[in-house]
Amino acid sequence: MAIKTAIVTGGGRGIGLAITNKLRQHNYHVYIVDLSFDNPEEDLKNNTKDFTFIKCDITKSDEINEVFKTLKLNHQQLDLLVNNAGIIRDNMIWKMPEEDFDNVIQVNLKGTWLMCKEASKIMKEQKFGRMVNIASRAWLGNRGQTNYAASKAGVISLTRVLALELGKYNIFVNAVAPGLIDTALSRGLEPNVLQSLIEAQPSKTIGKPEDVAKAVYFLGSNESDFITGQVLYVDGGKSIGSNFI
Ligand code: NDP
Repeated sequence: MAIKTAIVTGGGRGIGLAITNKLRQHNYHVYIVDLSFDNPEEDLKNNTKDFTFIKCDITKSDEINEVFKTLKLNHQQLDLLVNNAGIIRDNMIWKMPEEDFDNVIQVNLKGTWLMCKEASKIMKEQKFGRMVNIASRAWLGNRGQTNYAASKAGVISLTRVLALELGKYNIFVNAVAPGLIDTALSRGLEPNVLQSLIEAQPSKTIGKPEDVAKAVYFLGSNESDFITGQVLYVDGGKSIGSNFI
């Protein structure tokens, strides 16, 4: 089976690492584009042939250009771009420092846009490609997340426009919107807060990074041909109804 090539931003930990591993299992060479890569799992330590780590801040277009230069040199093609890197800086709007608004928009929205821009050039040339952008259920509205929710709403809008612009080049672009997922982020919550969030889920469970990775794999593969511009929720049903917290 021919080796495919993927870029996963923020692919070195959390949900991004689960996506990296899922793609590696399916014959992809994965470019992990991340600020750091300090804590690779045993499996990654022992098999360095199916991934390449490139240190890159996705808010910096010159660093992104270097990523694409390396990728073109080594693999000449890009089958899949996964925009997963993201940050949160939560606060009620009256307490939120302006720089927390700017930073979240820079990383989550502008970083995604910059990556899509470069990827669209190579994918347009090869007349093939898939992009999957990691949004969040929070785009629907979450108190304390004016910056984050707006950035993820922007990611969904960007996804829809790219589907319109790139469809005729056989480039399909979709978003995955995770809900409550068991990562370092959610483990940092007070246990009683976490428990109440889990109880508010229709599924009464918390998702795993691997659940998100499965959806990304589906939307990045030929299994999802003819699906573009869509948002796939991986949230145990929390996006249904109006019971937001
Ligand atoms: P983590 O914080 O665990 O991982 C995010 C990764 O992105 C880190 O490796 C981080 O690097 C990297 N990163 C941050 N900023 C940049 C940047 N400027 N350039 C390159 N890489 C960067 O997050 P999660 O795994 O929890 O989340 C992954 C995605 O899923 C995010 O987009 C998030 O918004 C979304 N999401 C997560 C949910 C959850 O419950 N966890 C729910 C809904 C959506 P470093 O470690 O060095 O800071």
